[in-house]
Amino acid sequence: MKKLRIETRSVHSGAAGRHSAPVAPPIQLSTTFRRGADGELESPWIYSRSGNPNRAALEAALSDLEGGGECVAFASGLAAIHSVLLALSPGDLVLAPGDAYHGTMHMLRDFLHRWGVATRFTDYLDPADLDAALGRKPALALLETPSNPMLRVTDIRTVAGRCRAAGALTAVDNTWMTPVLQRPLELGADLVIHAATKYFGGHSDVTGGLVAGRAGLPLMDRLRGIQTETGPVPSPFDAWLLGRGLKTLPLRMRAQSEGALRLARFLEAHPRVVQVFYPGLPTDPGHEVQTRQGDGYGAMLSFRAAGGEAGARRVIAGVRLLTRATSLGGVETLLEHRAMVEGPDTPTPRDLIRVSVGLEHPDDLIADLDQALSGSSA
Ligand SMILES: *Cc1c(COP(=O)(O)O)cnc(C)c1O
Repeated sequence: MKKLRIETRSVHSGAAGRHSAPVAPPIQLSTTFRRGADGELESPWIYSRSGNPNRAALEAALSDLEGGGECVAFASGLAAIHSVLLALSPGDLVLAPGDAYHGTMHMLRDFLHRWGVATRFTDYLDPADLDAALGRKPALALLETPSNPMLRVTDIRTVAGRCRAAGALTAVDNTWMTPVLQRPLELGADLVIHAATKYFGGHSDVTGGLVAGRAGLPLMDRLRGIQTETGPVPSPFDAWLLGRGLKTLPLRMRAQSEGALRLARFLEAHPRVVQVFYPGLPTDPGHEVQTRQGDGYGAMLSFRAAGGEAGARRVIAGVRLLTRATSLGGVETLLEHRAMVEGPDTPTPRDLIRVSVGLEHPDDLIADLDQALSGSSA
């Protein structure tokens, strides 16, 4: 049979009910599993920290969608990133972008160095800086593309190739794109990380993390050990919710990305908008690379409002349909003043507003932003 398309695999790859016949999978809450008279196992399961059917189904589905080998699930995106870093050794050097997700930055800067894992913040878009960083023999390069909140696009194939030549593994935090829009393993990365809290869950009601490794990557055995021996596992219910979200992931990603492009075009033409950051716009510096390396441009965008910080904050205060909240990836459109959230020493422009585009009708979102922007000059 011809290879099934991603929509079909999203619905079926977390296969339910091999032993009974439900169409939707049951939630297996039992922490422990029966043995026979001689101690032999009656099923593949022993104890839920070491394995659970809901978690195993989610892991199988992700490795199918990312085109990888093993996949390991965690209780949050940061638990996934932390576990990847724990799989390194004391004395190892990690490269990370200076504009990485703030939780990742804090972990690297304020926490991991105490265990002997050092970080060099690196601008992957600057070949000279990448050269200098690779000269220090890093063990792992962590990428995020498009970046937060400036939507800078890193060429995954080029950077992963240079890292491999220098002996470093490449891990891509693919939270913003999901395997529907971007599959880093196919571009030469070794590891893909997801905050499944965002698009996989998709409904702002579950936290989770996922790591997929390329087939045969030895580090995945160590990661499986970290999952089961240090215990940052998702609950069966969380794994079930993530598996449920997965079934509509391709449809949501496409619809939300279409909405984002509509919003970006509207904002670009608006007299009270200074600049729009969205790789789907042909004028965006990341457009060409993203067109080459992905199947779309995602549902995140940022823009700078006229009138400086005060202007941006008036827009945020003025929306009625968009929701003021942090995070992303849900069906509700969220907006946020990133500089305020990131603190006083952030390089993020003070007039920047980040938007996670949801599933509302784009015309309704545009009308709301239009009235908020028009009121912002008051
Ligand atoms: C949210 C997020 C994380 C962290 O995920 P949690 O589930 O909140 O721990 C990591 N990376 C990116 C890009 C994110 O957006």
